[in-house]
Amino acid sequence: MSESTKYLLPEDRLPKAWYNLNADLPVPVPPPLHPGTGQPIGPDDLAPIFPMAVIAQEVTTERWVEIPEPVRDVYKLWRPSPLVRARRLEKALGTPARIYFKYEGVSPAGSHKPNTSVPQAFYNKQEGVKRLSTETGAGQWGSSLAFAGSLFGLEVEVFMVKISYNQKPYRRALMETYGATCVASPSTLTNAGRAILEKDPESSGSLGIAISEAVEVAASRDDTKYALGSVLNHVCLHQTVIGEEAMMQMEMAGDQPDIVIACTGGGSNFAGLAFPYIRENLKGAKVRVIGVEPASCPTLTKGVYAYDFGDTGHLTPLVKMHTLGSTFMPPGSHAGGLRYHGMAPMVSHVKDQGLMEARAYHQTECFAAAVQFARAEGIVPAPESSHAVKAAIDEALRLKAEGKTETILFNLSGHGHFDMQAYTDYFAGNLKDNTYDQSALDAALAELPKIG
Ligand SMILES: *Cc1c(COP(=O)(O)O)cnc(C)c1O
Repeated sequence: MSESTKYLLPEDRLPKAWYNLNADLPVPVPPPLHPGTGQPIGPDDLAPIFPMAVIAQEVTTERWVEIPEPVRDVYKLWRPSPLVRARRLEKALGTPARIYFKYEGVSPAGSHKPNTSVPQAFYNKQEGVKRLSTETGAGQWGSSLAFAGSLFGLEVEVFMVKISYNQKPYRRALMETYGATCVASPSTLTNAGRAILEKDPESSGSLGIAISEAVEVAASRDDTKYALGSVLNHVCLHQTVIGEEAMMQMEMAGDQPDIVIACTGGGSNFAGLAFPYIRENLKGAKVRVIGVEPASCPTLTKGVYAYDFGDTGHLTPLVKMHTLGSTFMPPGSHAGGLRYHGMAPMVSHVKDQGLMEARAYHQTECFAAAVQFARAEGIVPAPESSHAVKAAIDEALRLKAEGKTETILFNLSGHGHFDMQAYTDYFAGNLKDNTYDQSALDAALAELPKIG
């Protein structure tokens, strides 16, 4: 086994194709439905908001989808990303486990999200689109799309969940640095935003509301399309560049993971690392695959697997997913990127088929793990990524208690340099483990559309 700390692939080994798990799933993912007719939607239903190339990727069952050369050229600004053996963390924990992490914080926006914002901007540009609208929770997706828009000459308008807009002014500044416009959501610019503000002028916003606003803008303007940073099949597809690289790097290390871990918000960084390993599991490998979510927004562990809207304003198709109900308002937390009522249909299906495990943690225990990680490895994890760090540490401690050696691989989906207020709050003892309101969850689930 290798003695190295970092495993770096040369640029010429950057994958040439994304991997599509839909080619290998024994049972296909249930299709999205039109909310009016209850029938599967077709490309025409999506054409007002997405470019055709993206719609084609949404439904393809091709196993390998070529990464266009201009996208690979941009990827080379930071990819292949490093795989790191967390030797100092292993020592600090006194664990016989070997811990590796794939580090996606090296991208210009500081997370895995440019892996999909760059191809989405590329395909829109190719089809003559001038503007992109989108939503952002904690701001990572907004800044990732702003970055991609600047490279391909597209205007970008970002609806940012109001609580994060106020908590994270530097994320807004980053979007503006890349030339994007950033609006606090709910806003008065859209019907969806105005309707929410009428009912609750103090609304702190949610991803579901911001999605409604961004979709409305795209649907009502010819020059504008919508871009989504997680959840959809094409996003999961683009993120698999992470897992494909990780497999080559684990080979360089002369090791193989027994456990693969990633945090799950909409599910995309999890899909990116895990789907290539699930492919191998379907061929007989036995890797445990674990998705980790916040206890305050426990979609996979407490949600219902049912058809639901992707947004609060009910503008999107119905998708079958683990959901807390599209009107459910998760309590505020610092892991804004994990605060979504639903989960990627592909990840939900994988969970339903028993191809993955899921668990939930409270935010203070995740920050404690993130601080322990930072003091051993130097990198300050994003609050979202801290959920994966916590699970990796827990597994390493379990192996220590059992006196077993196994190999753990987790995705460090981003760094926390724009989230230092969260760390300040944590050190000041001001972080609470917010629990959701069970009666509000029950009410939201009672309103699920009656389909499927
Ligand atoms: C957005 C984000 C997430 C959550 O999104 P997924 O689609 O579940 O990956 C996780 N980590 C970081 C750093 C993010 O920016």
